[in-house]
Amino acid sequence: MPKHIPLRSCIACRETKPKRELVRVVHTAEGPVEVDRTGKKNGRGAYFCPAQECWELGQKKRALNHVFKAAVTPENWDELLRYARETLPEKKVPTRVPATAARRVKGAKTRGTATSPAAQVAAREG
Ligand SMILES: [Zn+2]
Repeated sequence: MPKHIPLRSCIACRETKPKRELVRVVHTAEGPVEVDRTGKKNGRGAYFCPAQECWELGQKKRALNHVFKAAVTPENWDELLRYARETLPEKKVPTRVPATAARRVKGAKTRGTATSPAAQVAAREG
């Protein structure tokens, strides 16, 4: 059984996903909205899918303005979108990847998630 997984929704497409699969941005006390790579920065946070399309959609919808109740400047958006364009794929990738097609993620550590296949034993005695 999986442990409780914190879920957040992307402020652009509203899809709910595990928090760790989303990219957090944080509204700092100083004003600008920054990408929070550690997920631990102080401030009001919002989440985007790790895909450029959601960041661009978020800009179009002025989604951050709603979340932060503050106007995000075009310059600030430029920075956020630059981050997205440099580090994120253009389109969303499906969360669930078939085991056979599982791609290795560059730089990501392989985690020990060996789960034994649920052996269904139909033991019948008769
Ligand atoms: Zn999204």
